[in-house]
Amino acid sequence: RDPLDVMRLREQFPVLAREVHGKPLVYFDNAATVQRPLAVIEAMDDFYRRYNANVHRGVHQLSVEASEAFEQSREDVRRFLNAASEREIVFTRGTTEAVNLVANSYLQPRLKPGDEILITHMEHHANIVPWQMLCERTGAVLKVAPINQRGELMLDAMAEMISERTKLIGVVHVSNALGTVNPVAEVCALASPHGIPVLVDGAQATPHEVVDVQALGCDFYCLSAHKMYGPTGIGALWAREALLEDMPPWQGGGEMIQWVSFEGTTYNDIPHRFEAGTPNISGAIGLGAAIRWLEETGIERMKAHEQRLLKLATDKMTEIDGLTIIGQAAAKGPVISFTLDGVHPNDLGTIIDHHGVALRTGHHCAMPVMQFFGVPATARVSFAAYNLHAEIDVFLKGLEQARQMLA
Ligand code: PMP
Repeated sequence: RDPLDVMRLREQFPVLAREVHGKPLVYFDNAATVQRPLAVIEAMDDFYRRYNANVHRGVHQLSVEASEAFEQSREDVRRFLNAASEREIVFTRGTTEAVNLVANSYLQPRLKPGDEILITHMEHHANIVPWQMLCERTGAVLKVAPINQRGELMLDAMAEMISERTKLIGVVHVSNALGTVNPVAEVCALASPHGIPVLVDGAQATPHEVVDVQALGCDFYCLSAHKMYGPTGIGALWAREALLEDMPPWQGGGEMIQWVSFEGTTYNDIPHRFEAGTPNISGAIGLGAAIRWLEETGIERMKAHEQRLLKLATDKMTEIDGLTIIGQAAAKGPVISFTLDGVHPNDLGTIIDHHGVALRTGHHCAMPVMQFFGVPATARVSFAAYNLHAEIDVFLKGLEQARQMLA
């Protein structure tokens, strides 16, 4: 296929035409949430204009159309992840809720005091805190596989930490704080001889990588639509059918039941058993539209462009005195976390904002990563397919000004 036509791609993103503080917007906060293309905005708009109705229960035409679109999106997620069946796709509010669902429904009934959950030092809080809460309730123990100074997972050390008490391994596919792409298939290969399920936090991977859950060999995969050009408030959990079949419901209410009486309730089949209450219908429709848009645009082509931006920005930033890039893994997503000597990231972010450049500063919901590198916070630029080489120059000019004013 031809390389990505970035200028044409940009026309599909209305927000990119706006100005910030009188300057053209340079949006480099894509790892926090990416902007939405017209295909997504219009799919959601169309739902509300033409066929807004509740799903699954109605016999009337609007409800039939809404249910079909909602279930079509489930099929889109299945195809996108190469899952075996759409019965394996549960809609959630996002990655965070997907992890919490696995913690509460899958793992809690299986944990005894002293059992172990193994994660890595580079996890987002979403893949730390639900396990910590579960440990508090059950007496299980959270184990943390180490990372090295480049921000890479130490796979051998992780292998040594696996024991007969390990009940689940949780690993982030692509780190939002460092950019590191983890060798998820190798982690799964370590776990599978022991029969230990692996949960993958795919929040930062799905916008940049072609994901095949069957090839990876994992057991649970979590994603958030808003990181992959879709809306907020919707995401999905993929789980192997046999695991889902074995999981009790987590939240109770409508949609998740088969039969309710005061004597007792029987539960719906998977995946609906895990979708209590009226779902985020417009969100699911937006997620389906985002997936179709990603497939049409071509993730591989987008990735090639993003990797060029990553290399260009990394090369130029490496030349800047006093600038340290935190996270120098061999395989990286388009994320650059950095510190600048003598400059607080928040002050940096504020000055750069006046150049129209949106970047993120703080701990990136990965405080243990900050603790490992001994910094309270970093500044982070993260790229999407619509970003331009020229935008990196605007950012570097802002950076230079911030340095002169603050350092
Ligand atoms: N994991 C990673 C790696 C993330 O980047 C994020 C979002 N910052 C999450 C999990 C949580 O995703 P959400 O807030 O959409 O649930």
